[in-house]
Amino acid sequence: MRIDAWLVVAEDCAPESLLEAARRLGGVVSAVVVGTSDLARRVARTADRVEWFPTTPEIPAEAWSIAVADLLATEGARVTLAGNGPTSRTVLGAVAARLRAPLLAPVVDVSATREGVVATRLVYGGIAVEHDEAAGPACLVVEGSTPRSAETDDVLGEVHGPADVHGPVEVHRVEATPLAISCSVNAPPDRIERDLASADRVIGVGRGLGDPAFLTDVERLAEALGAQVACSRPVAEDLGWLPRDRYLGVSGRRIAPRLYLMLGISGEIQHMIGVRDAGLIVAVNSDVRAPVVSGADITVVGDLHAVVPALLRQLTTSSRKEPQPCVASS
Ligand SMILES: Cc1cc2nc3c(=O)[nH]c(=O)nc-3n(C[C@H](O)[C@H](O)[C@H](O)COP(=O)(O)OP(=O)(O)OC[C@H]3O[C@@H](n4cnc5c(N)ncnc54)[C@H](O)[C@@H]3O)c2cc1C
Repeated sequence: MRIDAWLVVAEDCAPESLLEAARRLGGVVSAVVVGTSDLARRVARTADRVEWFPTTPEIPAEAWSIAVADLLATEGARVTLAGNGPTSRTVLGAVAARLRAPLLAPVVDVSATREGVVATRLVYGGIAVEHDEAAGPACLVVEGSTPRSAETDDVLGEVHGPADVHGPVEVHRVEATPLAISCSVNAPPDRIERDLASADRVIGVGRGLGDPAFLTDVERLAEALGAQVACSRPVAEDLGWLPRDRYLGVSGRRIAPRLYLMLGISGEIQHMIGVRDAGLIVAVNSDVRAPVVSGADITVVGDLHAVVPALLRQLTTSSRKEPQPCVASS
């Protein structure tokens, strides 16, 4: 059975995994874009229809929530998918309330059946999967990693494969009245500006770092490696050493870098779920019995405060000379 799908693509969401999921339902894929004209034009390259709610500094995406919900109710949206960003979730929440639809999250797979749509979700901290079938309208928050090392524009071109790419469809600007709200944004520091989702190399820090002062060393290492810095949940949620949008795992972000370097992270399943699509996982941990030893591809058993400076020395030396053999043992 083919099911037509709607996407809610808000400013903070990379649309490629949404488009991929929606195409799996086999029907027409229409998109509501809440964001810039650039974003709308990008989505128009692969969606079959685009309705656009423009955002400005005065009109944030959240201000369009009710208007988007009204549009999807009028259209009789059967399945609506959105990304797992805070803005997307806010807008999708309004849609779910308006449609009286279940809101399922985080969805890792979706398929159409004769009765409706089946959403696959990770539950119990990611150690089990649940299949939820919805016969009526359903709203799904889609979890997904973005292909690595690719600009979103290129990725959008790759989603369907060349055979499915059609010329861009017309972007229709919706005439509606936004809510009178404003959002204040605390701009993140420079070091976290680039999106983790598309990072090729990521360094994750855990509680084993011991002191946030050592983040400076980690940042130097990140600079030398051309990596982004992420963390475990306690580092963001409990200790507040890094912002919450930096933690990885079942309740945090999921990434697919080519290299994930874990420093002082125990490697519990809830964290590893967020990085299981990484190409190579290298861990530094002082405890040979830590779960990460079986979860990582390579584990350096040792004190990260010794290993990080050694790595830095190695990287800065080898950038000036021919590569040297690595001194660390696993
Ligand atoms: C429902 C649920 C959802 C969760 N979701 C997430 C999630 O999304 N993401 C997430 O990360 N966690 C999540 N957790 C928490 C998760 O179970 C772990 O508790 C958490 O990941 C542990 O963080 P950590 O490894 O930084 O800290 P710890 O468990 O304290 O581990 C620190 C590690 O550092 C090592 N270490 C200490 N000193 C050094 C040193 N000098 N050099 C090298 N290594 C050192 C230790 O051997 C240890 O292995 C969730 C838990 C639950 C119950």
